[in-house]
Amino acid sequence: MKQLTANVFVETGLKGANHGLVTTADGIVLIDTPHKPSDAVRLKGEIEWRGRLRYILNTEPHGDHWTGNAFFDVPVMAHEGVRARILGTDLAAHVARVASFGPEEPKLLENYKPNAPVITFQSEMTLHVGNHTFRMVHMPGHTPYQAAVIVEEEGIVFTSDNIFCKVQTWLQEANPDHWLKALESLRALREDTFVPGHGPVCDKRYLDEQGSFIREWVETVRGGIARGMNKDECLANLTAMTDRYPMDVGQDGMAPRVMQLNVANLYDYVTGAGIHAPR
Ligand SMILES: [Zn+2]
Repeated sequence: MKQLTANVFVETGLKGANHGLVTTADGIVLIDTPHKPSDAVRLKGEIEWRGRLRYILNTEPHGDHWTGNAFFDVPVMAHEGVRARILGTDLAAHVARVASFGPEEPKLLENYKPNAPVITFQSEMTLHVGNHTFRMVHMPGHTPYQAAVIVEEEGIVFTSDNIFCKVQTWLQEANPDHWLKALESLRALREDTFVPGHGPVCDKRYLDEQGSFIREWVETVRGGIARGMNKDECLANLTAMTDRYPMDVGQDGMAPRVMQLNVANLYDYVTGAGIHAPR
């Protein structure tokens, strides 16, 4: 893991989302967990020589942020939507997919039970451990249940997948309006070192690039619809973003699929259908 400050260490080079740990005067707090069980087991070893793990904080509901929770025996905190999503997961399908990640994984997944959040919040929650303050703030965008974790004493924010730094952005269930608002909420923070959900550590200078890319995605799909394309035609033809960024670590070959997911969701967003249908 790379050391960012006196007490913050981050991992941005493994398959799955980034994760990080904060060492405090009263133990360790882990923010998100590895996607691959074998990586989680190795992380557990690394944490054991650093001190006692106290809590896990999850920043969002996607499996690449919480699958590894199960390998740690500590309480998890997250937005209430993250808990609901984890409890609603088709575990057989989830385990089958994660087992395919490598030869070590199937054995580690025997009797897998997700360690779902037991402490949840709707808009904001503060956790005090040792002399450290962890502020979790709901910032919907990439999903409705994102949270930024602000580690005040270290000047660091774990942003969740509301930032994909220099790697392809997944918009499969995004609300672009909320996401752009989230980027402004991040900009308004005092802290200026961001650990994104994916890609290298960045700062507020990246917010404009992330925001422009989201806007450009929406305009691309809006343009297709304006030219008379239906959803299937948009899916077949709107491929211009494929080579804009590399895929994150361990996502090789997934670009075409991500393009399809993004177009499908943004088509629904522009036309007010699917998860974006008025309620
Ligand atoms: Zn995500």
